[in-house]
Amino acid sequence: MAQTDAIVVGAGPNGLSAAIVLARAGLQVVVYEAQASIGGGCRSEALTLPGFVHDVCSAVHPMGIASLFFRSLPLGEHGLTWIQPPSMLAHPLDGDTPAALVNRSVADTARDLDGDDDGYRRLVGSSASAWPLLEDVVLSPPHLPRHPVAAARFGLRALQPAVRLAQHYLSTERARALFAGVAAHGMVPLETAPSGAIGLVLGALAHAVGWPIPRGGAQRLADALASYLRLLGGRIVTDAPVASLDELPPSKAVLCDLSPGPFLRMASRALPDWYARKLARYRYGMGTFKVDWALDAPVPWRDARVALAATVHVGGTLQEIARSERDAWAGRVSTHPFVLLVQPSLFDDSRAPAGKHTLWAYCHVPHASAADMLPAIEGQIERFAPGFRDRVLARHVMTPADLERRNPNLVGGDIGMGVTDLRQLFGRPTWRWYRTPRRGLYICSASTPPGVGVHGMCGYHAARYALRDIFGIPHP
Ligand SMILES: Cc1cc2nc3c(=O)[nH]c(=O)nc-3n(C[C@H](O)[C@H](O)[C@H](O)COP(=O)(O)OP(=O)(O)OC[C@H]3O[C@@H](n4cnc5c(N)ncnc54)[C@H](O)[C@@H]3O)c2cc1C
Repeated sequence: MAQTDAIVVGAGPNGLSAAIVLARAGLQVVVYEAQASIGGGCRSEALTLPGFVHDVCSAVHPMGIASLFFRSLPLGEHGLTWIQPPSMLAHPLDGDTPAALVNRSVADTARDLDGDDDGYRRLVGSSASAWPLLEDVVLSPPHLPRHPVAAARFGLRALQPAVRLAQHYLSTERARALFAGVAAHGMVPLETAPSGAIGLVLGALAHAVGWPIPRGGAQRLADALASYLRLLGGRIVTDAPVASLDELPPSKAVLCDLSPGPFLRMASRALPDWYARKLARYRYGMGTFKVDWALDAPVPWRDARVALAATVHVGGTLQEIARSERDAWAGRVSTHPFVLLVQPSLFDDSRAPAGKHTLWAYCHVPHASAADMLPAIEGQIERFAPGFRDRVLARHVMTPADLERRNPNLVGGDIGMGVTDLRQLFGRPTWRWYRTPRRGLYICSASTPPGVGVHGMCGYHAARYALRDIFGIPHP
C-alpha cells in the first residue's frame, strides 16, 4: 500500500474538504470516520418511516452554494443538484397579518414589506449587492480585505446587535420580525454582537445566492464530496473511531474535523499544557432540540404563501424571538421557542412517498438541556397552521444529549460547535486557528474560521496551511 501523506479524522463537510485540497495537491490521503456512513452534520436517513428521507442535521445550504471552495469543485458531476424554492424564506405572523417572504429579488422582497421598502433595501439589500466584494472576508480567517471600503462599510454595521439594526432601519413589526428570525440562526442573544452580522450575512445570501436544498437530501452533498475525493485517489474508512492520535498509522500531517472537546480527548498527550488549557477554555453555547416528522399532507399554513419557501421561521415578532434566544442563552426553557423549520418535500418529491411529506425543525434550548420541547414546538406550528398535528404520521426527536451521542463535536447539543461571540468569531478556537503547537497537527472543523455551516471553508483553509507548513506547497 502507498505511504500515507496525510490523515483526516472525521468525514464531515470540513474533513472531506480538507482531504480534497490535499488530494488535489497530489498527496496520499486517508479519512477515518467514526460512523458507519460519511457526512457528519450533512447527512440524511430514514428517521421516521420507510420511504421518508430526513436530513439529520443540515437541511438548507446558503453557505454551501456560496462557498468559494465548493464552487471550485465539479460537485454537479458527482450527484449534487441544488433546488431553489420560489421563496427563500417565509415568516408567518399572527391573525390576518400576511406572512413576510424573502424572495431572490431584493426589490420584490422590499416591495412586499409595506412601509419598510426603503429600510430593507438599505439594511439587507446593500449587503446583498456588496456580497461579491465581501465573500472573501466572510468566508476566511481574519485578514486584510481585498475590498477595504466595502468591508469597512459592512463591518461597521455588522458589529451591531440585530435588535439595534432592526430598530434603526425598520419600522414595521413584520420587517423587524423577518430580520430577527434570520439573525437568530446565530445562537447568540439578539441584543449582543455579532447577531447583526449573522442577520446581514444570511439575509444577503438569500438574495445573492439563494437558500437552496440539495435534491435527495443533504447526504447528496456529502456523497458528492466523497465521490470527488475518491476520484482524486483519497480513501475513506468508515466505522473507524479514532480514540487517540497514537492509534493512527504514520503520516506527515493529521487534520482533525473535531471541536476542541473531543479533539482534546484524542490529542491532549501530544499538546503542551498551555495550549490544552486554552482549548479547554473554548466556550460551547446553547443546545438544540430537533424534531423530524413524516406527514400525511403538507403543513396547513393559515397563509398559503408560506408554502412557497422551504425555510420557515416560526416564532412571531422580534420581541418574541429575542426573548426565546435570551432564554436559551441564560439557561431558561422557553415556553414559546423560536422554531426554525424546513419543508423540503414540497420542492423535492424524492424525500417522501407520493403525496406524503417530510418536515424538519429545531429550537434552541439551554446548553445540555433535557427539556422535552416537542409540545412547545408543535404548539408554535399549530399557532400558524391550525390542524398541523392531525397530519402527523410519525415523529423522531433528538435532544442535545442525542445529538452529542451521534456526534461528539456537538458538546451540550451546540450545533455551532462553539459560541459565535465576538471573541470566538475571530479567534476560533484560539488565535492560532487551524494550527496547533504540535507540528503537523491541525484542527479543520467548524470550530475554526469561518465557523458553523456546511461550506467546507474551514477544511479548505486548514489544508492550505498544512500544504504550506509541512509539504512546502504554496497556497494554491
Ligand atoms: C441539527 C443541525 C442542523 C443544522 N442545520 C444546518 C443547516 O441547515 N445549514 C447549514 O449550513 N448548517 C447546518 N448545521 C451545521 C452544520 O451541520 C455544521 O456546521 C457542519 O456539519 C460542520 O461540519 P464539520 O465537518 O466541521 O463537522 P461535522 O459535520 O461534525 O463532522 C465531523 C465528523 O467527524 C466524525 N468524528 C467525530 N469524532 C471522531 C473520531 N474520534 N474519530 C473519527 N471520526 C470522528 C463525526 O462522526 C463526523 O462525521 C446544522 C447542524 C445540526 C446538528
